Amino acid sequence: ESVVNKIAAGEIIVAPVNALKEMMENSIDAGATTIDILVKEGGLKILQITDNGSGIDKSDLPILCQRFTTSKLKTFEDLSSIQTYGFRGEALASISHIARVTVTTKTKNEACAWKVSYSAGKMMGEPKPIAGRDGTIILVEDLFYNVQSRLRSLRSPSDELAKILDCVGRYAINSKNVGFSCKKFGESQFALTVRNEADVRERVQAVFGRGTASNLIELEVPEIQGLGASASGQVSTLNFINKKSISPIFFINNRLVTCDPLRRALYQTYSSHLAKGNRPFIYLNVTIRPELVDVNVHPTKREVRFLHDEEIIEQIASQLADVLSNCDT
Ligand code: ADP
Ligand code: MG
Repeated sequence: ESVVNKIAAGEIIVAPVNALKEMMENSIDAGATTIDILVKEGGLKILQITDNGSGIDKSDLPILCQRFTTSKLKTFEDLSSIQTYGFRGEALASISHIARVTVTTKTKNEACAWKVSYSAGKMMGEPKPIAGRDGTIILVEDLFYNVQSRLRSLRSPSDELAKILDCVGRYAINSKNVGFSCKKFGESQFALTVRNEADVRERVQAVFGRGTASNLIELEVPEIQGLGASASGQVSTLNFINKKSISPIFFINNRLVTCDPLRRALYQTYSSHLAKGNRPFIYLNVTIRPELVDVNVHPTKREVRFLHDEEIIEQIASQLADVLSNCDT
């Protein structure tokens, strides 16, 4: 087992939430309409994700956790137009170097599901047939069991669970037609549920509560001039009084990102309308031609970069100003 692989993995996955985000993106890429998450000890003991997506072909299982194994990048041209979330083929490989990974999966062409475990990139034994539904279950156990320094640097399991719930909530708001649930191991109550039929307001309500959901207006920029970009989302009205600050929810081409210049521009637009210290709720999905987006940022850095950012941000901010002045009565 190579120390280099372990160290590389520990740089990509620094907390349970990083592993979960990668796995949720895989489930969404696989066309899942339900994603169920189970968490024990903040995801450090157990992090399990069950989806009803396409499943994984049995013939792909031997190399599933090898580095750079991806089913999402077929030609060189794909490199400049990556529509799906991941493309590096590194997530599952990394996780398998710092945790025990068990995959149970069934495609619609198979009569049964196949279950197999991985360690350090390698499949352990042969897949075993087992009863199961179409889709994939990925069980991650004992995350960082071989990276004691990382384990020590993490705070409490409840902090890690909070990060997980925040991330699931953000994906749930953006992923229409996908239902989500998240549960703590051994508890009968869900920590979070969103129905797959829910519209965006119901999603916001499920995640952030009725107060946030009942003070929303739509922010829609159908065409950002000449750039083939668009943006759509929900933002709070001026009646919204925010008790806990929710950092803006930005997706670019359905990838959860942070974008400081966009955040600053939108907060600035609100600042003349809102009482001091009152933070608006902002959810925005921006669609940009993939070749304009820099997707090669480091996995733990979510700050996105894209071309024509000033024009795009300015047009979104000015649309926000219009929308707010209309509800400023
Ligand atoms: P990437 O997403 O960048 O391709 P990953 O390491 O995240 O790399 O996943 C490797 C491959 O495993 C994916 O390309 C996909 O083919 C398969 N895979 C992973 N998770 C799932 C899932 N939940 N459903 C179907 N296929 C999956
Ligand atoms: Mg992936």
